[in-house]
Amino acid sequence: MTERLYYTDSYTTAFTARVTEQLQVDNRPVVILDQTYFYPTSGGQPYDMGTLNGVPVVDVTVRETDAAILHILDAELTDEEVSGGVDWARRFDHMQHHTGQHILTQAFVQTADAKTVGFHLSPDTVTIDLETSSLSDARIDAAEELANQIIWENRPVTARLREMDDQEGVRIRRLPKHLLTDGLRVIDIEGFDITACGGTHVSRTGEIGIIKVLKLEKRGGKIRVEFRCGKRALADLREKNRVVQRIAADLDCRVTEAPVMLARLRKDYRTQTAALKTAANQLIDYEAAEMLTNAPSGAEGIKVITAAFEGRDAGELKLLAARLVAHPGVIALIGTAGEKAMLFFARSENLPNDMGALLKSTLTALGGRGGGQPNFAQGGGIALEIDALREALKTAARQL
Ligand SMILES: [Zn+2]
Repeated sequence: MTERLYYTDSYTTAFTARVTEQLQVDNRPVVILDQTYFYPTSGGQPYDMGTLNGVPVVDVTVRETDAAILHILDAELTDEEVSGGVDWARRFDHMQHHTGQHILTQAFVQTADAKTVGFHLSPDTVTIDLETSSLSDARIDAAEELANQIIWENRPVTARLREMDDQEGVRIRRLPKHLLTDGLRVIDIEGFDITACGGTHVSRTGEIGIIKVLKLEKRGGKIRVEFRCGKRALADLREKNRVVQRIAADLDCRVTEAPVMLARLRKDYRTQTAALKTAANQLIDYEAAEMLTNAPSGAEGIKVITAAFEGRDAGELKLLAARLVAHPGVIALIGTAGEKAMLFFARSENLPNDMGALLKSTLTALGGRGGGQPNFAQGGGIALEIDALREALKTAARQL
């Protein structure tokens, strides 16, 4: 079985090892070494990346049958001796977040009596799942304060082995199926937390820098807490700072005043939108009245109004058609030309004509589709120049 050098030393990234087995897994070249600093995906912590004799290591997993560590490679490697190099930036990020998780987990136990039942660490997000159904802002702040206090006290973090049955005071989330150490490996954050864990950790809490809770998400009876440590926390702060500074500059106010300013803007926007709608309706009323006045009366006093517009809003035209036929004895054949032309055919309730059929035949002739009720129909969606639209409306009027 591969000797796991990272158990006793999380900091060494360059090493030499002997290849004990070469194989293929899912058509990818794989080597097993007599010893390695490469951490395989396990316990919620992702694998290390890096190189073996210059060949990129693209994944590291544990073989089910004998717990050997599989170094999955980007290319074939035939050497018997290899020089390994672990990507330190990625490893240290995992160390910061894994140790940070131990601290945050213990902090939530002490401040909110909430147990951690899940841990997930990926390049995008880091989360713990807490066995609690609610968590107030005050509780989160308290846990965060305590966690950062422990970081700033720069406490030693040590990994040591205990007898398997010596589990007193040890937080155990889940023991692995096969124990790979001669006893129970525990991570001791001096005077604060002891957790059974096989991952890589920093040697003093100060190296985590900072821990920040970002958001909560309710998941059934649990709460998922997203957090960031160290460099990721800094990157998050940097990005959010830029965003809020930009918002404040756009709103012409201080950052702290932005929420009030935004609420005021939203309220103003709603008021203005409502006022605009009222004004637009009034305009349509005037437009309809003018069209009715100007339209000549035909046989039996029926007024057929045709009107072709360009680039008019469909909702507005629909309203105009409805206003026109609110008067008795009116047939309105109106439309708007453009890339997606729309036609509206409507008639007063006291008239017998079938607008649905008329619109259908008009649009069929133009290569479009549409229809509706005998008193109101709409359709279009085809490209139509204003002259063609005007002509089509005239043709439809002749068919009445
Ligand atoms: Zn751990």
